[in-house]
Amino acid sequence: MSAAHYDVLVIGAGSAGMSAGYYLARRGARVLLIDAFDPPHREGSHHGETRLIRHAYKKGSVYIPLALRADELWRELERLAGTTLLVRSGVINIADPVHYSFRGRPDDARAFGVTVEMLDAAEMRRRWPGLKLPDHFIGMYEPEAGYLFSERAIAVCRRLAEAAGAKLVTNTPVLRVTADGAGVAAETAGGVFRAEKALISAGAWFERLAPFAGFPLRPLRIPVGWFQAASGDYRAGEFPGFTLHTAEGGYYGFPDLGGLKIGKHDGGRDWRPGEPLHPFGHYETDESSLRQVVEKYMPQAAGRLLQASVCKYEFTPDEDFVIDRHPLHANVLLIGGLSGHGFKFASVLGEIAADLLLDGKTRFDLGAFALERFAR
Ligand SMILES: Cc1cc2nc3c(=O)[nH]c(=O)nc-3n(C[C@H](O)[C@H](O)[C@H](O)COP(=O)(O)OP(=O)(O)OC[C@H]3O[C@@H](n4cnc5c(N)ncnc54)[C@H](O)[C@@H]3O)c2cc1C
Repeated sequence: MSAAHYDVLVIGAGSAGMSAGYYLARRGARVLLIDAFDPPHREGSHHGETRLIRHAYKKGSVYIPLALRADELWRELERLAGTTLLVRSGVINIADPVHYSFRGRPDDARAFGVTVEMLDAAEMRRRWPGLKLPDHFIGMYEPEAGYLFSERAIAVCRRLAEAAGAKLVTNTPVLRVTADGAGVAAETAGGVFRAEKALISAGAWFERLAPFAGFPLRPLRIPVGWFQAASGDYRAGEFPGFTLHTAEGGYYGFPDLGGLKIGKHDGGRDWRPGEPLHPFGHYETDESSLRQVVEKYMPQAAGRLLQASVCKYEFTPDEDFVIDRHPLHANVLLIGGLSGHGFKFASVLGEIAADLLLDGKTRFDLGAFALERFAR
């Protein structure tokens, strides 16, 4: 169909793809972004208004440099767009030490200049009176962490990408990708799009593009709820973002911005492309698994369920990302498997995609994200 010639096709213009579209176009590449929906949208992994951005990561040497650069780029995108994308609310990571350890993380964080404070339960309860925590719980507070407005961030990248000359085709699933000496071709119901290079950033749908873009990936349906708070203790501006590791599992959440939002990191159900995605409430545990921890640890926020949603995770076996060239086609880059913690990195993933596709190199060590690890 398209007679236009592009330098780069971006297949999947969600969190990573839309950002890549911007960084590629800003560097002068002729870019065509193709998405199955109209991003930002509610079908993939990026909706529900907010995403935590933390820097004091496990596997610190792998993730902290990326998180710090991502943070810088979000600030720059905010300035360019004239809108708020990142709120530095602080993030308190709360753990029952019987079930979870922060071992190594404070030292790693400090080695990269990231501020963390270790707090006992009494101090956490003093700072945030909305928390009801047993005395043996421990906390790692990241005062410079916070949250991003995820859909707004994608809308900003889309606007900036188009202003820089990128073209976007929406509501057009790519059915097949092929590559040969002449470049890359993306087949859609409306025709074939071609370019010299491609980024495939298909989120939960990589399986649809296999075997060309196949790697081990487990998509999951993740329920999220917003609970009405009866007290002002959870208000945005006063209460931080949080993660919670307890006997009930791993959770994360956000201060009250129209309800205290909470999700369960390890609580998803398998979903595969083509299957229906059951709405929130289809399973009784959608709400009960969230409400039980709000009632126990943030009891004044366990009011009415104000809003709810289901979203998609896509886990690799080790929960590390895939950022690598296609094993047979060096002109094709794959970014995916963001494993339920990738949004905060979307800005830097876009920059990395542009660097790899246009210069053939990046300053980041991406060894942990190589496809080769799945063959071992
Ligand atoms: C409930 C929930 C909470 C989360 N919380 C956090 C958090 O606090 N912090 C954090 O950092 N991360 C968090 N994440 C994870 C983060 O949101 C994801 O890792 C990230 O959004 C994934 O980005 P992506 O670009 O891979 O996928 P998406 O943003 O889903 O983009 C993939 C795009 O590819 C398109 N696509 C797929 N197949 C095709 C095709 N064949 N043809 C054309 N287009 C196609 C899709 O339409 C979609 O737009 C959370 C995720 C969920 C679900």
